[in-house]
Amino acid sequence: MPANSNIILSIANSDPVFSGGGLTRALTVTRSARARRMRLAVDPRDGAVKLILPRRAALAPALAWAEQQRTWIEAALAAVPAGQPLGPGMRLPFDGAMLAIEWRRDASRTVRLEGDHLFVGGPEELVPGRVLRWLKAEARRRLESETRAVAMRAGIAIGRVRIGDPRTRWGSCSSAGDIAYSWRLILMPPDVRAAIVAHEVAHRLHMNHSPDFHAVVARLFGREPKAERAWLRANGTRLHGIGRTG
Ligand SMILES: [Zn+2]
Repeated sequence: MPANSNIILSIANSDPVFSGGGLTRALTVTRSARARRMRLAVDPRDGAVKLILPRRAALAPALAWAEQQRTWIEAALAAVPAGQPLGPGMRLPFDGAMLAIEWRRDASRTVRLEGDHLFVGGPEELVPGRVLRWLKAEARRRLESETRAVAMRAGIAIGRVRIGDPRTRWGSCSSAGDIAYSWRLILMPPDVRAAIVAHEVAHRLHMNHSPDFHAVVARLFGREPKAERAWLRANGTRLHGIGRTG
């Protein structure tokens, strides 16, 4: 086998590795009781390549199959957005505006938003962590109140509101009524965030994506969120690069 066609190494001596398109990445093999067939996934947050297998599938044929998916893996890796670390001088989208991170060592360590500027002090190496914690706190604060306001207006009961960093979904709603969002919603324009909030609250009435469900979304949002869906298709992936250093 020529050296450059060697995508997946055997796991006999080491963990499997994907290398192609100038990149080398660990290939994480996971087994899932729910998986009906093997599939590949690329994490949009960090470009990790995952091979998901049904619980009892044999590994060697799965690796051989993954090897044949080189074109797909390379295309998926090419679509992973470039990392944008949250350091001094960086500009980041926030609630429909563009913020500039202004760092001065002797400024207050408490992150402070003033107009289009985000002021932060203290050691430079701590800036990315501070800004990220501030963004997550803002996401939690705003999404909690926005979700409760929409639900209350419509007379819909909801449980807890949580913030996380899921790989593929911007929001989710459990059958118990708890709603979880990606913190990255705070990077979106307010209308797009509101459309996602309406979507998750509407799941309290319909746990599916039926026409009845979409009618509830339009009622909660005030109209069909067509422009917001288009915005997400065009810009959503890019948001997964924000805050990543590599
Ligand atoms: Zn949904």
